[in-house]
Amino acid sequence: RGSEGPNVDVIIVGSGAGALMAAVRAADLGLKPLVVEKAALIGGTSAISGGGIWIPCNDDQAQAGVRDTLEDAFRYVRTCAKGLASDDRILAYVETARLMARYLGSIGVPYRCMPLYADYYPSLPGARPGGRTMDPADFDAASLGLEGLTQMRPGNPGQALFGRINLNSFDAHTILSQGPGSVSVVLKNILRYATDLRWRLKTSKDRRMTGGQALVAGLLRAARQRQIPIWVDSPLQSLLTQEGRVAGAVIRHSGQDVRVVAKRGVVLAAGGFERSQDMREQYLPKPTDARWTATPPDGNTGDAIRAGAAVGGALHIMDLSWGVPTVNVPGEEKFRGVFVERSLPGCLVVNALGQRFVDESGPYPEFQQAMIANHQATGGAIPAWIVFDGRFRARYPMGPLLPTSLMPDRKVPQAWWDSVVWTAPTLEALATRIGVDPQGLRNSADRMAAFARTGKDEDFDRGGNVFDRYYGDVTVKPNPNLAPLSQAPFYAMQLWPGDIGTKGGLLTDRDARVLDAQGVVIPGLYCVGNNSASVMGPAYPGAGSTLGPAMTFAYRAASHLAGQP
Ligand code: FAD
Repeated sequence: RGSEGPNVDVIIVGSGAGALMAAVRAADLGLKPLVVEKAALIGGTSAISGGGIWIPCNDDQAQAGVRDTLEDAFRYVRTCAKGLASDDRILAYVETARLMARYLGSIGVPYRCMPLYADYYPSLPGARPGGRTMDPADFDAASLGLEGLTQMRPGNPGQALFGRINLNSFDAHTILSQGPGSVSVVLKNILRYATDLRWRLKTSKDRRMTGGQALVAGLLRAARQRQIPIWVDSPLQSLLTQEGRVAGAVIRHSGQDVRVVAKRGVVLAAGGFERSQDMREQYLPKPTDARWTATPPDGNTGDAIRAGAAVGGALHIMDLSWGVPTVNVPGEEKFRGVFVERSLPGCLVVNALGQRFVDESGPYPEFQQAMIANHQATGGAIPAWIVFDGRFRARYPMGPLLPTSLMPDRKVPQAWWDSVVWTAPTLEALATRIGVDPQGLRNSADRMAAFARTGKDEDFDRGGNVFDRYYGDVTVKPNPNLAPLSQAPFYAMQLWPGDIGTKGGLLTDRDARVLDAQGVVIPGLYCVGNNSASVMGPAYPGAGSTLGPAMTFAYRAASHLAGQP
């Protein structure tokens, strides 16, 4: 027996977006929550994310001229989920997501819809060419305060200009697509950061928080306003049961095991298992490596999935992850996701035979799955190589490289050459340097040049749909995703089949209650986010498909705990 902790109504395990939403909502419904977080910092993967949420029929759509219906949203998610999520859960999601987004606005975390950001599978029934993905409004760090800011996990260097100046998704899209105003967006942001002198005296962190930083900062401010206790460095050890229900948890806190009784129940929101090599090997397709993930190194090792299973929770879709190709930048604590750069024209991705095997501009989960499948078939797609030419290098970012106007080759850190990026004066010489078949790469580049002329990728239909084109270059014709690789020098980077979390976990019902193997509810136990099996099944219906459900089911769990389903 450990020492006795405080008596609370609900324990919430984890401090990502799902956890903080559950805590704030529970407090607003009159409950007394306690949040426990394993890491020293608050926010989990959610804090380093883009912060996007996928919310069909959101309140912003009408103003943006987007027409949407719950029926279409349900049909679309149901088709995406391929029978791996119940209709009841899908319905609960599409019906509640907009209410959750409205509630977010009411607690000081407003979102706005992105009218042009298409669903990831635009040809499926019920898809929309934009308007379901929402981006958090910029958040003023001063309103959280420096103390709150230092409790939070900092953002990703890759999502900020020069690793420091925060960009929101609208800025990033304008810059990447080279649309009108792209240069002025860069200049305005530099100027804004440089002239914020009063804030600069306090910290080098940007006052304007964006993406997952804005989301978690907003939720944390709401939690602090409600005086919700958050224990950091306090991992869940096990769940306590009493008379067939989950009645609390043992938490490692200040060096000892503390038994905390929770009158209403426990919400598990402790992320997936992507940082556990053992669980990856047990469940995910091979090969698999915990180093490939883009999530923080000190958190998600599946602890709460195992704790839930130990009290009878059923596990579901454990072989699936939220895949994304990643690059390894020496000195950084985690790999970086390559979400959008591979979509831009003038690059292609090949295996060791020099052959393309996927639509480079397609959704990142399918890209990662294609890498694994191609590797299983050829033995040469892990790593795969993204190859680009001098024109690409001059205009666009790639992984940690900024365009040459901001980061010429001579400014690229020495340690990156031949570990992050390789270069050579010809494609054949580059192929030889990186161990790729030169003739294969030459053939792929020649075919790409022909496709770029006609605008039609006859092999993988790159740029053939509205999702691909979202991150194309509008100035490149006839297809914004296709350009020849013709200007020396040539460059290559290694891509790994990484992820931004795993998808499998505890099976839950429409109110996020954990089910046992017979489909019966385990009283007092709730689970949300990557701790639970995704409502999206194997798919990624649109940007925000992980955080949207994490917070929507957290919202539902809190309502249910408070007796207000
Ligand atoms: P997390 O946010 O990871 O939180 C889990 C928390 O639980 C962690 O803080 C962890 O330390 C803690 N924990 C683990 N074990 C224990 C334990 N035993 N006891 C107590 N606490 C524990 N998704 C989107 O929907 N939209 C996006 O725009 C988006 N962009 C992304 C960009 C990047 C670069 C990355 C890496 C991910 C992105 N994602 C995005 C994915 C998304 O961030 C994650 O899927 C999501 O944050 C998972 O939320 P969660 O609450 O389940 O887990």
